[in-house]
Amino acid sequence: GRPLPPTGHADDGPDRLWQRKLREQFPIVTAHPESAYLDSAATSQKPQAVLDAVHAYLTTTNANAGRGTYPWANRTTRLVEETRERVKEFLGDPEPGRSTVHFTSGTSEGLRTVARDWLVPYLRDGDEILVPFADHRANLDPWLEARRLLAERGVGIQVRALPHQAVSGDYDHRALGGLVGPRTRFVAATHVHHVYGGDMNVHRIREAVGPDVPICLDAAQSVGHLPVDLADPALDVDFVVFSGHKAMALPGTGAVWARNARGPGFRPAGWRGTPNTVGIVSLGAALDWLDEAGADRIARWTDGLTTRLTDRLRHLDPYEILGCPTSLAADSALPAAQRRHGIVTFRHRDIPSDDLGFILYSHGFMVRADSLCQAGADDEKGSVRVSLHVYNTVEEIDRLLAVLTSLA
Ligand code: PLP
Repeated sequence: GRPLPPTGHADDGPDRLWQRKLREQFPIVTAHPESAYLDSAATSQKPQAVLDAVHAYLTTTNANAGRGTYPWANRTTRLVEETRERVKEFLGDPEPGRSTVHFTSGTSEGLRTVARDWLVPYLRDGDEILVPFADHRANLDPWLEARRLLAERGVGIQVRALPHQAVSGDYDHRALGGLVGPRTRFVAATHVHHVYGGDMNVHRIREAVGPDVPICLDAAQSVGHLPVDLADPALDVDFVVFSGHKAMALPGTGAVWARNARGPGFRPAGWRGTPNTVGIVSLGAALDWLDEAGADRIARWTDGLTTRLTDRLRHLDPYEILGCPTSLAADSALPAAQRRHGIVTFRHRDIPSDDLGFILYSHGFMVRADSLCQAGADDEKGSVRVSLHVYNTVEEIDRLLAVLTSLA
């Protein structure tokens, strides 16, 4: 077939060496060179440094946190508190003395906690909220549940759909302006879309709603993948909710960061029980690892692989890529912020997604080939999602393209 396009990075050589060193730190990846894990949007693989931190904690320190007065318990409490501060630092929190970090099992629990413990007590009869109806279900169900909980108390709120553009998958920022009114009290948005991979341009939501409305950001697909810097005025949000397990930490980890500047302060209600201490330790180690690797460089690597995949795939007739940020970007020099970040979802005109997933697995590719948990939309049906992280290679993409081409 056609020769493959360049990878999209200017300094391919140094990045390749850098990437190879990082990849070698993932034992599960190096143990299976014949396979390619392409499902990092579901959960990431873990580097040796995280496995070591987990092992060290469990063999030297394991105890409960916030209880007990002996050294292991004290050290566990300190590790948990240090990780809380580490999360703030990792996110570039400009006012760490004012914000709070609450540990969760992942983004779903984080968003649910914001909805139940912060949004429900904050809203009044007649208030309106704007939430995405075609992003991950985890970022819709909690807001609908909040409306139900409020209705049971005789408080009626309006839940409006944050509108999406049909083709690109981005929010429809123009239509958004018309939906904002004096009773708009809250917006939930997504940072990077889990089906389209596009940056959802949250700064334009801030422009539309003005300076006073709290915004909650589902950062499940951005933290650990690209720079998330709360000191950047373009990221003027009040909550950042993410999954540690998608960012190199253990399963069952995640966090809510809350700025506590707009609306009431964020405090989860009720007795919290034993925290996932070892998971929190793994999160601290994961954030250290990611900082060392560098978010900019990780994003440049995975964006380069994404471009390599989409540049080829969009010319292969039986495939349709969902959403179009990168396919446009390749032609029209769209800003990088509107391109796909490590996520490409596509369908084959004639091969159902289950079959395509099976065929790809028979060649060693682990992709997502069932429901993508997208709320509302039919878009994702019949599609296959490839999602990348820094351990993925140019060779893996080329092998995948060779198989996809043979099926065209
Ligand atoms: N939000 C987005 C955008 C996601 O991609 C995911 C993960 O699939 C979630 C929320 C849910 O994350 P978790 O499974 O960690 O609760």
